[in-house]
Amino acid sequence: MTARKPPEQALANAHGRARQALEQALAAAELSGRPVPCRGAEAPAWTADDAETLEVAALYCTDCPALEECRSYAVAAGEDGGAWGAMTPAQIRRARRRAQEQKTRRADRAA
Ligand code: SF4
Repeated sequence: MTARKPPEQALANAHGRARQALEQALAAAELSGRPVPCRGAEAPAWTADDAETLEVAALYCTDCPALEECRSYAVAAGEDGGAWGAMTPAQIRRARRRAQEQKTRRADRAA
């Protein structure tokens, strides 16, 4: 019988896969010439110190060809250093908490 991974460990494993998927999506975007908003002239907005600027940066993420992969990575990694995947740090923390709760519930049901 295989021991179950605790939710935190499962998310850590998901982090590596999500990071790889994000890197692939960003490479595909670069090859196709599609712009990635956080890599343009306004890049500092994605790591700004003030919440208002981060909210605006997160809105610009909606045009990104790597949006879904970036969002998955940010939640799996628990990124809180700026805007990722159209989310502010507070939104990422909430999404991560929800993901951990869902994994815990699934593990409880399967036990
Ligand atoms: S979705 Fe991610 S990669 Fe795309 S602009 Fe936003 S932070 Fe950058």
